[in-house]
Amino acid sequence: MPDIKPNSSLLLNDEDVEYAHFKCCGDEDLVFLRCPSCRHIWVDCYECDTWYVDLHDLSNVQHPEPSPAGGHVRCPSCGTAFEDAQYLSKDVVDKYLPTAEQVADAGHGRHLARHLRIRFGPET
Ligand SMILES: [Zn+2]
Ligand SMILES: [Zn+2]
Repeated sequence: MPDIKPNSSLLLNDEDVEYAHFKCCGDEDLVFLRCPSCRHIWVDCYECDTWYVDLHDLSNVQHPEPSPAGGHVRCPSCGTAFEDAQYLSKDVVDKYLPTAEQVADAGHGRHLARHLRIRFGPET
């Protein structure tokens, strides 16, 4: 059972990332995020609050800090604050998740979990 439960079945959840690519905290819980403003796509380990902000360079990590004003994190690409502090909660999470097609179109298809790579991943 996924932890992340988007209302739309097209959106990805925490079972849709290729976990083998991310050597994180050892207890990885990974989900793709997509900025509603600029459409930048990155990966969030919500177990330890680590963001893989550049999926072409997985050494490029950030630890998102809520902005002092509203407690909302900001997109690592355009700096727009998320509308929701609890962006992974079921009511709002759809705003911040991509589809497999969007991940593939952004050039990150290789980081899709195997069951999605068969359809959306790069030919290897
Ligand atoms: Zn982690
Ligand atoms: Zn953005």
